[in-house]
Formats: sequence, C-alpha cells, structure tokens
Amino acid sequence: MTDEAWWRGGVFLLALLLVASLEFWRPKRGWRESRTRRWGINLSLIALNVVILRLTLGAAAILMAVHVQQQGWGLLNLVELPVWLKFLIGLLLLDLAIYLQHVLSHALPIFWRLHQVHHADLDLDVTTGLRFHPLEILVSLIYKVAVVAALGLHPLTVLVFEALLNAASMFSHANIRLSAQLERMLRWLIITPDMHRIHHSIHRDETDSNFGFFLSIWDRLFGTYTQAPRDGHLQMVLGLDYCQQPQQVGLIRLLLMPFRPLPKPAAESEKP
Ligand SMILES: [Zn+2]
Repeated sequence: MTDEAWWRGGVFLLALLLVASLEFWRPKRGWRESRTRRWGINLSLIALNVVILRLTLGAAAILMAVHVQQQGWGLLNLVELPVWLKFLIGLLLLDLAIYLQHVLSHALPIFWRLHQVHHADLDLDVTTGLRFHPLEILVSLIYKVAVVAALGLHPLTVLVFEALLNAASMFSHANIRLSAQLERMLRWLIITPDMHRIHHSIHRDETDSNFGFFLSIWDRLFGTYTQAPRDGHLQMVLGLDYCQQPQQVGLIRLLLMPFRPLPKPAAESEKP
C-alpha cells in the first residue's frame, strides 16, 4: 500500500505541476478573484480531503478490488476474456459510472447540496478540478466501492483509473488556451477545458450539460452535450448564480454550504 500511495502521490504532483505551468504559459481567461486567496481556499479544501481520506478508507476501492478478485465476484469475473480487454472494458465502465454519478449529483437536491461547493468557484483552474466538499469525497468513495464490487474490477484497473481521473479533472478544469485545431481533435475523445468550462457556466441549462470526466463520448451518446457557451468562452460568467460574491465562497462558508437551504430555482420563484 505504501508503494501505491507513493505512485499515486507522484502522478498527482506531476500532473498538477504540468497543468499549472501550462496555465502560466498559455492562460485562456483573465482572473476575477485574487489567485492567492482562491489557491488558499482550494488548496486547504484539497489538503483537508487528503487527510480525511488517509484517516478513513481512502484505499477502499483498491481493497475492494483485491477482495472481489479473491472471491470471483462481479460482472467481469463471470466472463472469459483476455486480461487486457477486461482492463479496457473496466476503465470504460468506470468512466460511464462516474458520468452517471455526476448526472445524479445535479438532478438530486441532496447530492447537489454537496456538489454545488465544487461549482461555487468563481474562476476555473487546475485547483478547481480537485476542490470538492469532504462529504462529497466520502459519498463518491462509497459509490466507487459499490461499482468496483458490482463490476468485479481488477486492482490495477482501479489504480490506473484513479490516477487518470485525477489528471483528467486537473486538465478539464485548467485555464489553458489550446489551438482551435488541437481542441477540436481532442474533443472527439476526451473532455477539453473549453468543453468543461460550459459545465461551470452561471446558466443552469449549461451547467446541466457536459457531465463527462474523462471521455467525451457519454455526453454525445446520452444527449447532454453542449458545443459552445452562449455568452462566449471569454465573456461567460462562472460559478453559481446565487453565489457570486467572493465573501460568499470563503473556506468556512463552503464547508457549511451543504447544510444551508438551497435557493429556489429562478423559474419557480417567478411563478405567481
Ligand atoms: Zn458538476
């Protein structure tokens, strides 16, 4: 487990440094908030989550994968397939499972209470991709353990997917300018920063689209794909429409956010 922790930590730091350097070198948008303040908040939340995962069952998904291999549980253990094919199918199904979880995080108010904390960031950059409420991290962990058991995933599949998901999340939230040609090509397969920025729009219909985390195919397949933001990439406002002041998104406010009542949707409160 120590080796696995080092491996994961190494990939994590490398991806963080790489994406942060790209943001410095080729930024796409200007910043609304002071970066020092935002990084202070986001890195505190990230550090809190790392500590909580270390103290609880951060490695639960891997441990469950080891267990299901020993017991022969789960869908992929019922079929005879080459190991490499099971690995690829496992990665694909895990990505689909995370897509579905993300759709539910927006559709069900109890999960949105937690997930809105991630959406409250007024700017987007590499740190946003890792900034979630600790309770959402724990809920995700329980969900992932259940998916690993149901699908009968191999520990290596889980290990690679977790590293991939972290790196993909840092990349898709990055404030970087890619050439139009490269962006178009990448977008056919994976979630690009331009595609995911639309998901962080202040407009709820745009927020409720582009749910994918790694592959972009699920949004196209299930009809949740939005090609471009209506206000344009440089002008579009990010964050929650009910939380646009920097003082509303301080660290303590963010931690308490899931326990406060959700504001009524605009369309509903306009009804007589
Ligand atoms: Zn979301």
